[in-house]
Amino acid sequence: MEAPAARVVIVGAGPAGATLALLLCRAGIGVTLVESNPSQRRAFRGEALMPSGLAALEQMALLPQLDALPHRPLAGWRFVVNGRELFTAAEPMGGDPQRPCTLVSQPAFLDGVLRQALATNHLELLAQTTAKQLIWQAGRISGVELGDGRRLTADLVVACDGRSSRLRQEAGIGLSTGSSPIDVLWFDLNSPGAGPDNPPSPNPLQGHFTTVVGHQGVFSLFEGATGGIQLGWVLDASQPTPQRSPQEWIASFASQCPPDLANWLGQLGTGLQSPTRLSVQVGLAENWWKPGLLLLGDAAHPMSPVRAQGINMALRDAWEASQHLIRVLQPLNQPLNQIRCDSALAAIEQARRSEIQTLQTLQAQEAQRGELLRHNAILRCALAMSAPWVGGALGHHWSQLQKPLREGLATLLPAP
Ligand SMILES: Cc1cc2nc3c(=O)[nH]c(=O)nc-3n(C[C@H](O)[C@H](O)[C@H](O)COP(=O)(O)OP(=O)(O)OC[C@H]3O[C@@H](n4cnc5c(N)ncnc54)[C@H](O)[C@@H]3O)c2cc1C
Repeated sequence: MEAPAARVVIVGAGPAGATLALLLCRAGIGVTLVESNPSQRRAFRGEALMPSGLAALEQMALLPQLDALPHRPLAGWRFVVNGRELFTAAEPMGGDPQRPCTLVSQPAFLDGVLRQALATNHLELLAQTTAKQLIWQAGRISGVELGDGRRLTADLVVACDGRSSRLRQEAGIGLSTGSSPIDVLWFDLNSPGAGPDNPPSPNPLQGHFTTVVGHQGVFSLFEGATGGIQLGWVLDASQPTPQRSPQEWIASFASQCPPDLANWLGQLGTGLQSPTRLSVQVGLAENWWKPGLLLLGDAAHPMSPVRAQGINMALRDAWEASQHLIRVLQPLNQPLNQIRCDSALAAIEQARRSEIQTLQTLQAQEAQRGELLRHNAILRCALAMSAPWVGGALGHHWSQLQKPLREGLATLLPAP
């Protein structure tokens, strides 16, 4: 039996899908949101919001909501080479002084967005439900078939189903993938020494996103929005996951750090959990739409983890898309003008594609610099020895390079 037609079906309730659903619902447009994950308490997938993402949240009038969520402004970016501090760049780095890069609990943020969308009474949320395939009618995508066999018809399907997007594949849209030579081993560290009788010692990260490069490899660590420490260890994509005991991992981390950080990491004891291996996938969909279908967020452009762009770009996609779609989906209760709708889809892709392309290039350049340092012991040694003299100039140069990655390049459409 066919379910009643919704005007828009969105697949995926990550940052792109959840915020787009809210923006359309606020405009009175009926949305069915399909999410396969049992709950938003999903695996850690980042929480750094750059000024570019915060600007999108401001347009969505969601910025004040962040104050009520677990969040933490980043104090700065610290770089350590061979155990010596190279430079620290303090946040906020230029631009709006009120907008440092801010760590925000993603599950709490998504919960809040979905609550607001449900309160409009225009959202139907199908949680724990998988979209299996697209429904086609006369050369146009006209809905999705769910894993349980239900068929949802719609004026428009929006695929926000992440980097391995099933809907993108179903639609036959290719993904041009950049080569990524790296994977990341992700460690979720408990606060060292923490326990009911042993409160955590103040950590020497002091709110900085700290990147450490040394003879054993490269890793970055930071204190997350909810207080836990996250650590990402870079390894070659072709390399098997090193089999190390918790003590051996801690020794590897500590051997590359300045004494304060090394001592503190040493307190981790044996409580270190096995890491999760994340393959880094970077790509750009050949096109972002087909009649009746739009791709957004990672489904359209899986982003590298370098300088935390994925959530921020997903939010900017959602804002831009909402402004075009509201115009063509209103007035409500009238048949959709398919030609206008398809023009809006093309306009969304046109507005977003160049920012994504440029930022992916900048991310690749940043990754190449990191790789050069990871593989070149002489360069590391020279930098560590000259750090007191060249660190300031390097930090200034690095900060300048970060501007587009922090602030984005495109001008967001103003709120109506
Ligand atoms: C460890 C890690 C750290 C990261 N750190 C950061 C960071 O600090 N800052 C940053 O900006 N980015 C970060 N990222 C990247 C960021 O998480 C993604 O780029 C971002 O979540 C993309 O948002 P999205 O809404 O497009 O897709 P996703 O967040 O991937 O959401 C897709 C949703 O679709 C659902 N779904 C998939 N297929 C189906 C289906 N067939 N049916 C129904 N539902 C489906 C999934 O369950 C998921 O909830 C990080 C990623 C990882 C893995």
